[in-house]
Amino acid sequence: MKLAARNAHMMGDAGNGWAILFRAREMIAAGEAVTMLTIGEPDVKTDPAILDAMDASARGGNTGYTDIAGQHALRAEIADRVSARTGLQTRPENVVVTPGGQAALFAAHMALLDAGDTGLYVAPYYPTYPGTIRSGGARAVAVLARPECGFQPEAAALDAAARASGAKTLLINSPNNPTGVIYTRETLEGVAEICQRRDLWLISDEVYETQVWEGAHVSPRTLPGMAERTLVIGSLSKSHAMTGARIGWIVGPEAAVEAVHQLAINTTYGVPGFVQDAALYALRQGAAMEARNAAPYRRRRDIAARVLSGSQAVRLIHPAGAMYVMADIRATGLAGDAFAARLLAEEKIGVMPGESFGAAAAGHLRIALTQEDGLLEAALARLRAFAEARMP
Ligand code: PMP
Repeated sequence: MKLAARNAHMMGDAGNGWAILFRAREMIAAGEAVTMLTIGEPDVKTDPAILDAMDASARGGNTGYTDIAGQHALRAEIADRVSARTGLQTRPENVVVTPGGQAALFAAHMALLDAGDTGLYVAPYYPTYPGTIRSGGARAVAVLARPECGFQPEAAALDAAARASGAKTLLINSPNNPTGVIYTRETLEGVAEICQRRDLWLISDEVYETQVWEGAHVSPRTLPGMAERTLVIGSLSKSHAMTGARIGWIVGPEAAVEAVHQLAINTTYGVPGFVQDAALYALRQGAAMEARNAAPYRRRRDIAARVLSGSQAVRLIHPAGAMYVMADIRATGLAGDAFAARLLAEEKIGVMPGESFGAAAAGHLRIALTQEDGLLEAALARLRAFAEARMP
């Protein structure tokens, strides 16, 4: 029996990054002590107070079907949060709750792209991006952000890609996974200008908005002329260490929000009410709880900068945000995947090869700051020594 051809299109274009992750997991299962600096799973656990809120909600009876676009109180809380933080008046009708940022990314592309349309995304990229765009039958086209430009996307490259492909959407992510770069206001103004010139929808993945170590997070939805063509992707996965709860949202124009609501009726049928009540509790704790969750990554980013400082073999891309650092290891003469495979085999340290985020990050490594400080520091010192021993 034949499966739909679409299935093949959902695969990412990544190199063998996942192979390294799976190999590391096998080694751990076999009892080996591997330091995992691979995926973005916070080592910090969900705050027990959030779990209490979830428990109280479920025990209080919120266990049935919920409003499919999200409970009104949560949509209103998200709208108020966005209004307060961006200065752009946002109403509950501009918000739809989704089971995580990933589902929000999928729903946004489904709402905006027909089969055969083209969606742009910036490389290096979060590995699900091309498969997400293609899963609805659209074509995914990468626009390279170059290491020479600090991995900031360039307006000229975006413009050329939009013109050549006739794209309808552009997906960006700042603070960025995998590079740890925050897009400058100038970059975002360039993005906004191209979106208006080429009549693109902008999908702005802001799931790392609370992890900003330097500069400021600017939501491009606030730039002139952008609110009517921007969908913002949000999530509590990283800001509140709630990856397993599967809770996120889209903020955008009412018609797009309504389209995502219709999709939810036909797919997820909403997000569990007790998870939404936990999210409401978490958001009501305000910036203090977010700062507590972000603090370990900020500290570890400083550790990474200190341990790798001055190395000719491992050069850190200046990390301004998000829970990762990216390192350029091209001076060792090894490709990112070869380096990562050998580091795992010889030093029992798991990192992601840059190639798993697209060719734009070839010769780089992404290091997740998801281990306790002392363990991270020791692993980075060994990584540095390993890289320096490989210098020609
Ligand atoms: N976007 C980016 C850039 C991510 O790194 C992730 C998760 N690692 C997501 C979206 C999706 O997160 P979630 O579905 O857990 O909200």
